[in-house]
Amino acid sequence: MTRSTVLVALDTEKTGPVARDQLARICERLGAEGHEVVRARGADDALALTQSRADLSVAVVSWDLDAPEAVLKALMGRFTKLPVFLVTTAASVDDLPLWVSQVISGYVWLLEDTPDFIAGRIGVAARRYLDGLLPPFFRELRRFDDAHEYSWHTPAHAGGVAFLKSPVGRAFYDYYGERLFRTDLSISVGELGSLFEHSGPIGDAERNAARVFGADLTYFVLHGDSTADRIACHASIATDELVLVDRNCHKAIYHGLTLTGGRPVYLVPTRNGYGLMGPVPPAAMREDAVAARVDRSPFTASAAGRRPVYAVITNSTYDGLCYDAVRVAELLGATVPRLHLDEAWFAYARFHPIYARRYGMSVDAAALPDDVRPTVFSTQSTHKLLAAMSQSSMVHVKNSPRSPVDHRQFNETFMMHATTSPMYPMIAGLDVAAAMMDGPDGRWLTDEAITEAIRFRQAVARIGRRIREAADRPDWFFGTWQPTEVTDPATGEVHAFLDAPLDLLRTEPSCWVLAPGAAWHGFAGMEDGFCLLDPVKVTITCPGVNAAGEVSDPGIPARILTMYLETRGIVVEKTDAYTCLILFSMGITKGKWGTLLDAMLDFKALYDANAPLAEVLPDLVRAHPGQYARLTLPDLAARMHAQLGRSDLTGLLDEAFTHPTPAVLTPAQAYQRLIRGGTEPVRLADIAGRTAATMVVTTPPGIPVLMPGESTGEAGGPVLRYLRALEAFDREFPGFPSETHGVTRSTAGDYHITCLR
Ligand SMILES: *Cc1c(COP(=O)(O)O)cnc(C)c1O
Repeated sequence: MTRSTVLVALDTEKTGPVARDQLARICERLGAEGHEVVRARGADDALALTQSRADLSVAVVSWDLDAPEAVLKALMGRFTKLPVFLVTTAASVDDLPLWVSQVISGYVWLLEDTPDFIAGRIGVAARRYLDGLLPPFFRELRRFDDAHEYSWHTPAHAGGVAFLKSPVGRAFYDYYGERLFRTDLSISVGELGSLFEHSGPIGDAERNAARVFGADLTYFVLHGDSTADRIACHASIATDELVLVDRNCHKAIYHGLTLTGGRPVYLVPTRNGYGLMGPVPPAAMREDAVAARVDRSPFTASAAGRRPVYAVITNSTYDGLCYDAVRVAELLGATVPRLHLDEAWFAYARFHPIYARRYGMSVDAAALPDDVRPTVFSTQSTHKLLAAMSQSSMVHVKNSPRSPVDHRQFNETFMMHATTSPMYPMIAGLDVAAAMMDGPDGRWLTDEAITEAIRFRQAVARIGRRIREAADRPDWFFGTWQPTEVTDPATGEVHAFLDAPLDLLRTEPSCWVLAPGAAWHGFAGMEDGFCLLDPVKVTITCPGVNAAGEVSDPGIPARILTMYLETRGIVVEKTDAYTCLILFSMGITKGKWGTLLDAMLDFKALYDANAPLAEVLPDLVRAHPGQYARLTLPDLAARMHAQLGRSDLTGLLDEAFTHPTPAVLTPAQAYQRLIRGGTEPVRLADIAGRTAATMVVTTPPGIPVLMPGESTGEAGGPVLRYLRALEAFDREFPGFPSETHGVTRSTAGDYHITCLR
């Protein structure tokens, strides 16, 4: 039984003793029937409870409160279909605003009815609300669990009983509790439907998710967005066909190409002075630009057809840059009939108006005419930024008549990548994740994350200003990456970001757009409105470089800040040369960022006081006393800053992407060579002219510098010069290794990369 909570918002001071006694009896009665009653004495109390108590199942609100309309609006804005009873006098019902009579479920006349009758009506409404709350699969799973059947099918733990026969099994069972195991059922339970036939409650749950996410078809995938990506590719690309691939793509896309034999033609994102990857610029997506790239590709001559059949774009990027998806579909749709937006980090986009047009499922017939619109796939790691268990993911499809997805055909691919023993609690989790975003709840949940992220951004900027104005200490501070000023489109008024009204920033997308040529973002080739910085993905900037790549002193490379934050129990999402990324997700609690801000201020104090490293980063000094024991925090920062400047990592990286090494083999051919011819690790110093067997991804910027089947190029070429500079950095600063995938280090610090034999 789900708990039921009744909010009673009524000021008993105003009602007089008879009504007060009556109310006390109603609350007593509700308590006796198992409802928890929470009381609010005024509108402020009621508003606070509305925000903090997600478990309300009915509200009783007095029209005598100081601001009853605000309370009703808050309840409607927070909960879908929450029953609300209005306490008033029969005489004043006629005078209520019309919208009030429409949204409430009924009236309570305290003095006219008996307490039992009133409590009964409230209780029934609460129960009905809770019954209607549960989404299709979770509801049936609970009902099934309640029935306590004996099972003769897999899984063999049989509702957990098998674990009870062994001490270690018992420990496992006790740890997770009985319920997880009782609902871990086999597909033989027909009542719950089938994930492969998309039938019964499972099919209903997928269709409900399709409605919530705005898709024509939605498929639940239990093996991560990695699998969702491979399914979308595998269902769309035939052997030797050309595919447009965002160079900033996840490994899974490469795996999709390996499975299908697709031939990648890369679209390369822009870079800025921080070394952050931006969007692929619109000019590179145009039909003529794409055709020129296709012509230059070594894979085109022997491809099946000269026109790409599919395009994959990562939306949003890791750093929170999201495209105008409709514009991308229009541009790439001129070349390909199917567009895949990998939205691993962006499942919440549909639920807040700030992201209008920014996500795959917004590309519908109303946004683009059928003859130019591609069929769009959105693949989402539901678990990454919504509330769902790890691995839980979805594929959404928005069909266009140009190349519609045929469910029966797509399902063949879907099954090829699925287990025949899906875990039902995960399906329930996906069902619940979708239901949580339905109606006003989705807006409320995303709005909270956006609001907290903006508060943090403004707090950092305001502290920076206070430090400068006080002029009693070195005037540097960290920043966050966003526009320096914003314009209110309604009034034309321009605000400095740090003083802009919160309501403007959290509702007005134009505040977050990468305007063409604006200095703060540093990306070339933007069209107005093309790309938006997602407020919830916050990049912290350290002194030392700006978005144009201009180096300044003092410099504090971000790896030092990240290491310090770790000593304070704060783990960031990603660290680049002078920036690190933190996420404001739905799991954030209000004000959690206070701790982070405090740690940033402490770092500044330590830096300004020239604190010895042994005090700031004791573990580092203990592990590498030779290098670090005599240094202070500013010494280390200055050395690392000088090294980064000397080696010009960001410049080399830019060159490596502008002049990529030639591809020798397609991903599928490279893979065949890998399983037949084998691979060997090769020292970076000896690697010129070889062919990479695995992806080499360096951070920054977290996108591949080498793909399997690509030549490593000449020793003096940009890719190898860049990798050697990274190797030199790692040698000079032990304890701060670059995050480079596809590279192993020998004990002497030499990089090794796996190449085809
Ligand atoms: C994380 C990620 C994936 C894979 O998602 P999982 O759910 O971890 O399998 C795919 N694409 C992108 C862009 C990602 O960041």
